Amino acid sequence: MAVTKTHGPEAVEAAWRAGIHDVGENRVQEALTKMELVAAPVRWHLIGHLQRNKVRALDHFALFHALDSARLADALDAQGGRQERSVDALLQVNVSGESTKGGFAPGEVRAEGERLAGLSGVRLCGVMTMAPYGASEEVLRRAFSGARAAAEVLREVGHPVRILSMGMSGDFELAVEEGATHVRLGTYLFGDRTT
Ligand SMILES: *Cc1c(COP(=O)(O)O)cnc(C)c1O
Repeated sequence: MAVTKTHGPEAVEAAWRAGIHDVGENRVQEALTKMELVAAPVRWHLIGHLQRNKVRALDHFALFHALDSARLADALDAQGGRQERSVDALLQVNVSGESTKGGFAPGEVRAEGERLAGLSGVRLCGVMTMAPYGASEEVLRRAFSGARAAAEVLREVGHPVRILSMGMSGDFELAVEEGATHVRLGTYLFGDRTT
């Protein structure tokens, strides 16, 4: 998918014309503003952290990639109940344990997966991870294969897992080799972000 954060609506239109039909944004307000200005019928993905009081905004997105805490999962479940349609989300897994990144540790995935299997308002469609920036191939592969293993655990506990969202501009080739179904590309497509 094309990650269009910090870029204007013309970046989304350009991606659409180039055949990219999925667009990722990491901030809710920026995304909602941009949606108003885009005519192309792209699928919008929210790939960044979401505050619990903003879950209603998920109504505007095809998929939420950053389900990173049990409390947020409960808020999504409540939103799914309100809108009478379950919210599609990916469990964010922090494989390398970096303190600057959110998400569940690999060892927490089974228990949270089992708990979420009992909530009807949220549907777990897969896993998202961010690998450590600029890391060695070995470390990157470990992060991506760890996410793949987490997806397998979620499948075992009954979730309809089919998406592995992993790989950014600096590491997407390795992510694809490790099984990514969705890579999230900003810089690679649009150049450096200046803001
Ligand atoms: C910005 C961002 C990307 C894209 O990063 P690039 O390195 O520019 O490709 C991917 N995923 C998330 C969650 C992001 O916030």
